[in-house]
Amino acid sequence: MPPIPHVDVKAQYAPLIPQLEAAFSRTLETGRFIFGPEVEGFEREAAEYLGVQQGIGVANGTDALVLVLDALEIGAGDEVICPAFTFYATAEAIARVGAIPVFADIDPVSLNIDPADVELRITPKTKAIMPVHLYGRPADVAALRSFGLPLIEDAAQAFGAAGIATSIASTFSFFPTKNLFAIGDGGMIAANDAELAERLRMLRFHGSRAKKTFEYVGYNSRLDALQAAMLRIFLPHLDGWNGARREAAARYAELGLGEIAELPVDEPGHVYHMYCIRTTERDQLAAALTEAEIGFQSYYDPPLHLQPALAYLGGAAGDLPETEKASAENLCLPMWGGISEEQQQYVVDVLRKASSLVTS
Ligand SMILES: *Cc1c(COP(=O)(O)O)cnc(C)c1O
Repeated sequence: MPPIPHVDVKAQYAPLIPQLEAAFSRTLETGRFIFGPEVEGFEREAAEYLGVQQGIGVANGTDALVLVLDALEIGAGDEVICPAFTFYATAEAIARVGAIPVFADIDPVSLNIDPADVELRITPKTKAIMPVHLYGRPADVAALRSFGLPLIEDAAQAFGAAGIATSIASTFSFFPTKNLFAIGDGGMIAANDAELAERLRMLRFHGSRAKKTFEYVGYNSRLDALQAAMLRIFLPHLDGWNGARREAAARYAELGLGEIAELPVDEPGHVYHMYCIRTTERDQLAAALTEAEIGFQSYYDPPLHLQPALAYLGGAAGDLPETEKASAENLCLPMWGGISEEQQQYVVDVLRKASSLVTS
């Protein structure tokens, strides 16, 4: 068996290369590389796909978070509740605008922020809650909404997941390994508030509406026309890719992976950005995967409350028991839209041989 990567992005886009090249040439012909029809077209199509009022293209998913926080005037002294079992950018964005990330623990089944723990951490200084739809599984936004605070959904891993982007603002990343990806960096904000959307459009362009007057201290954070052109080709294929991811997830279970480790619990809206099992034998299984040239990742270890850059927040081991347990146990296996049954069978065979839970 040839080596199996953790994510094979090229396998997804390879059949589209002629179309991508044509879009590249078309963009070169127009000479318009910043804003223009490709960006406007993608923003419109993506907003329609998500069922949101407006799409605002930005440079990456991290900027998307920072811009939303800034536009909501969240800053010094304000608290924003988020998970610690997520990519660093979630909390980094909060800290970047001068606000305080307040970490809530996760639900051990969904791995998403636990609304009951969020409730305990709300103070008069809490200005927003930032749930993450981790690994493509929708967080419980309905429960979070009941607290009456603005929700900023970090949906970087969840383009195409069901029931997301219903809040005032949601953010997306088009980093090449995400479910919907660009051929470089890119991001988007989905807004359901016209005034906020207008402010975001200005903020991403130096706080200006028309290049002459500058009304805010803003940013230079735009989605390139070239990336927008690529994204317009990928978007119609997203549902197919996400469907293939869901099938691959079901197949891992059918192949008996559940005898070796705890599998992610399915739900209809889950788009399996990652397929992560939980195991107390992680080192042992990881060594076998490395030996067999199978790609894998163990994410968010250490979790964010134990990261050096955020030590000033005073986090300590033991603060977030479910987060810390997930951090020590998660093992993300090869997953993309189009992984073959043979590849998955090989992954399961390798894990089966390495696991002490299987004797036969
Ligand atoms: C990828 C990711 C981001 C950051 O996106 P970039 O485009 O890399 O800046 C933010 N949050 C989460 C949860 C992510 O997975």
